[in-house]
Amino acid sequence: MKKKLLSLSLVAVMALGVFAGCSSSGEETTEETTEETTETEGETTETTGEKYIIATDTAFPPFEFTNAEGNFVGIDVDIVNAIAEEKGFEVEFQSLGFDAALLAVQTGQADGVIAGMSITDERKETFDFSDPYFDADVTMAVAAGSGITSYEDLAGKTVAVKTATNGADYAKSIADQYGFTVVEFKDSPTMYQDVIAGNTAACFEDYPVMAYNIQQGAQLEMPEGMTAAGTQYGFAVAKGQNAELLQMFNEGLATIIENGTYQEIVDSYTK
Ligand code: GLN
Repeated sequence: MKKKLLSLSLVAVMALGVFAGCSSSGEETTEETTEETTETEGETTETTGEKYIIATDTAFPPFEFTNAEGNFVGIDVDIVNAIAEEKGFEVEFQSLGFDAALLAVQTGQADGVIAGMSITDERKETFDFSDPYFDADVTMAVAAGSGITSYEDLAGKTVAVKTATNGADYAKSIADQYGFTVVEFKDSPTMYQDVIAGNTAACFEDYPVMAYNIQQGAQLEMPEGMTAAGTQYGFAVAKGQNAELLQMFNEGLATIIENGTYQEIVDSYTK
């Protein structure tokens, strides 16, 4: 089920003089009995860094996205990296897409997911969530200048959503009431493009993500008062799995909130 990679620390590697021939990914093990190893070296956090595979979305800025320099960055990425450094573990991000990331964790192909993922009661049946780390509403967005300002304007039209998101759930929950049809997309950029091209009348997206994209030039706008369903983002592991990783995330999150790193990360993408 659970795939974990153990790698020797640089310090240990140098001490043993076995640098050559040791790949960065180290040895792979499917054992679950290696959990204690990180504790044995006391407060030196750089000793035995267990490597966790963290699944995430493809393009969900400012939380995860590939920047102009071609680097995979974002608030989620930086938070996990800061916590990993704090707690002395290693991370490999897999940018899979939102529904694929959830599936990867559920099938044990990834240890955890961070993807602007909202904590919901339904998801709590299959995931264990960390403490919340960000608040986000869902908002309707339309093509700039389209003149659509309310749900009533969606009557008889088609609306774009991203598969498996709570924006999709929300749109579906009001579709009959307002008389629109829902069409699903795998990723946010494709969904936005469909709205901009006029194929769909609107999309439903998390407010901070929509605001960031519009600020970056996406030809979309958010009609006033069309936000709903406030949620909080959490890091998640499969239910009953990776409890140690979840605990380290929570402890590390508390630390980076307290020492100001969390706010620096958020500010670096939103200011
Ligand atoms: N916050 C939304 C959800 O959890 C969307 C997440 C995403 O698209 N990456 O469903």
